[in-house]
Amino acid sequence: MFSMAIRSDFVKILLTGGAGFIGSAVARKAISMGYDIVNVDCLTYAANLKNIQSIEDSQNYKFEKTDICNSEEIRAIFDRHQPDFVMHLAAESHVDRSIENPETFIQTNVVGTYRLLEESRLYWGKLSGNKKQSFRFHHVSTDEVYGDLEVNDPAFEETTAYSPSSPYSASKAASDHLVRAWGRTFELPVILSNCSNNYGSHQFPEKFIPTIILKALHKEQIPVYGKGENIRDWLHVDDHADALLTVLKKGVPGETYNIGGNNELTNIGLVKIICRLMDIKVPNNEPYENLISYVTDRPGHDMRYAVNASKIATELGWEPKVDGKAGFSKTIDWYVDNQEWWKPLVRQGAFGQRHGAIKSTS
Ligand code: NAD
Repeated sequence: MFSMAIRSDFVKILLTGGAGFIGSAVARKAISMGYDIVNVDCLTYAANLKNIQSIEDSQNYKFEKTDICNSEEIRAIFDRHQPDFVMHLAAESHVDRSIENPETFIQTNVVGTYRLLEESRLYWGKLSGNKKQSFRFHHVSTDEVYGDLEVNDPAFEETTAYSPSSPYSASKAASDHLVRAWGRTFELPVILSNCSNNYGSHQFPEKFIPTIILKALHKEQIPVYGKGENIRDWLHVDDHADALLTVLKKGVPGETYNIGGNNELTNIGLVKIICRLMDIKVPNNEPYENLISYVTDRPGHDMRYAVNASKIATELGWEPKVDGKAGFSKTIDWYVDNQEWWKPLVRQGAFGQRHGAIKSTS
């Protein structure tokens, strides 16, 4: 259905969600590689303009504060910037929030993706020649769409049937289906990638690894769902950014690529690794592990996610580079050294009700 086209190395990417955790890592990396970036982000609670401070003065960087659900504004952005590629990361991304308030997940992840697809189709339909041939719509998704694995099940492959469990993963699964349908029905050159759990700098404090680090730094109880036996595959965000730019450049339209870190850990195992690293980096009078507190499990909590990322390795030559322990160590250092980044968020109650607000931010 699709053919590969030759693409120039330096191109303009319309990046959605570029003020969030992963989007800002992509923006920083892409700018350093000479790409032009048009960052479309409506700046929800999860966004932070400090994430893109280092590139905001670059001539190659433009920011458009816009909701992806606003078709008229998105159309004007396409007209104004004439991008070569779309890389779509804007989403509501926190499972706990999707359980508390699913509506915004349906709106942004499903309706927003639909509107972006329609505007991309309109724009692409008017292109011609090489610009039309080389256009790509790259949809960034999650391994959570595949559902739940038992401990000894084989890892998710690109062909694994979808079986999402949470409102978040169901909304992402719906968006993946829309993207594939726009590829198949309208021949929009779409590419999908489904990635495992990310970690690294600039991740919003409510997510698992920042919660462990910040609760430990404040010597407050570190909440672990259930018995902490759930297993996740962890990938450093810089590796994900590298994988996404590889997929955009070399990926074949119509294809899906699983991205993973080959780094499966139980939640409790991960908490202990971080606590032990912190015992060395930020010595306390007792081991940080003593702060671990088991809390009521999340409803519908998937037991295990594991990603088989051999397709992207064989076909596109991408593999993760950041070693797990070194990546966790670097992440702890970042949160210790960048307190001015997270303190205002913690003061605003970035942990929500579920994990209890941090009591002191001094
Ligand atoms: P994030 O919550 O940190 O950032 C999301 C960004 O999207 C924010 O800057 C936010 O302002 C923006 N946004 C939200 N709704 C918007 C809207 N309606 N219009 C415009 N902008 C909007 O998320 P993240 O962790 O960086 O995840 C980015 C993408 O990667 C998501 O699509 C997510 O599903 C996917 N993903 C995340 C992980 C992970 O571990 N974090 C793993 C696999 C896939």
